[in-house]
Amino acid sequence: MKIVVDWGRCEANGVCVREAPDVFELNDKDELQVLSETVSPGARARVDKAIYGCPKQALSLSEE
Ligand code: SF4
Repeated sequence: MKIVVDWGRCEANGVCVREAPDVFELNDKDELQVLSETVSPGARARVDKAIYGCPKQALSLSEE
């Protein structure tokens, strides 16, 4: 599973960073960075929380 970000929706508010700091990060310019696009089994629950917590519905998973 890979994380897909709809960059047109993301407003870099950092909700996903709080839910999964090992996967998402805000850089020096307050832009979202995905540290690990491929979701490891150990990170799946945190990534799911980030997806459901994103107030802009900017995150999803692809089967690739
Ligand atoms: S929670 Fe959503 S809007 Fe906020 S930084 Fe993450 S992807 Fe962007």
